[in-house]
Amino acid sequence: MNLNKPAFTEKNPPHGLVQSTIAFPKGLGTNQAPIQEIFSSIQGEGLYAGCRQLFVRFAHCHLHCAYCDTPMTTPSGQCAVEWQAGTNQWKPEENPLKQSHLVAILQQLITANGKHHSVSFTGGEPLLYSQFLLTVLPQIQVLGVKTFLETSGTQPHLLAPLLPFLDVVAMDVKLPSATKQAPRWVENQAFYALLENNPAFTGDVFIKCVFNQSTTLEELSHLKTIVTNPKTVIFLQPETPLEGSTNAITIDAQHMLALQAGISAWFEDVRVLPQTHKFLKVS
Ligand code: SF4
Repeated sequence: MNLNKPAFTEKNPPHGLVQSTIAFPKGLGTNQAPIQEIFSSIQGEGLYAGCRQLFVRFAHCHLHCAYCDTPMTTPSGQCAVEWQAGTNQWKPEENPLKQSHLVAILQQLITANGKHHSVSFTGGEPLLYSQFLLTVLPQIQVLGVKTFLETSGTQPHLLAPLLPFLDVVAMDVKLPSATKQAPRWVENQAFYALLENNPAFTGDVFIKCVFNQSTTLEELSHLKTIVTNPKTVIFLQPETPLEGSTNAITIDAQHMLALQAGISAWFEDVRVLPQTHKFLKVS
């Protein structure tokens, strides 16, 4: 059986409107988690854009960013696995998935698709399944592949136990101008503080801020109190119109360049990078 990639339709809208076909994690044991898709592709964002990765996309998120284009479950509720990269042929696996089953799938995908830089745990919000990851991450490192966490950067208590097993953390700082939600400055600050100058974490961290035409330098000035190490690389990611929209990125060049220049007064390395995987037409 082939599963088509989840696509946005009126019946399967972006997060916040999705009727989940998988029970929300409450009540799940720590040895299983709802995962919507597993595949091999190219990282499209941030410091490791262009690297070959395995992606494990967890279902569900506790946030409701207005620009979110991530379906929170597959239409069937099953976990879809693309066994051969780029074929768009998806086969279903049980959901929720057990830890041992996930590791076995990743092992097979590495064998089938060759060398990978890392396994990206993405979502949704992977930290909703922190206890599940606590067992999985060391097993991934044993396979000789790095562990890469993509997170909203808002739940430090769920991050803490995972620190010794993380090689890369891609942390969002959520800007209200883009999310249309309340700011998360305090949570972002506590989250980053755990990563910086902590002997338990020896990996890389970088920051990603999705912004748009209404984002101001004043709003971005919160980065100064959150990201205390000026050497941390900051990525400004232009908000991408939701799937199905005919709009291209609508941020004017002058605004984009002014924000980049403004933040560069506070940090050594500030880059503007859109979601490159959309241009490559890969997952
Ligand atoms: S944190 Fe990420 S997955 Fe969660 S709603 Fe925001 S964009 Fe979507």
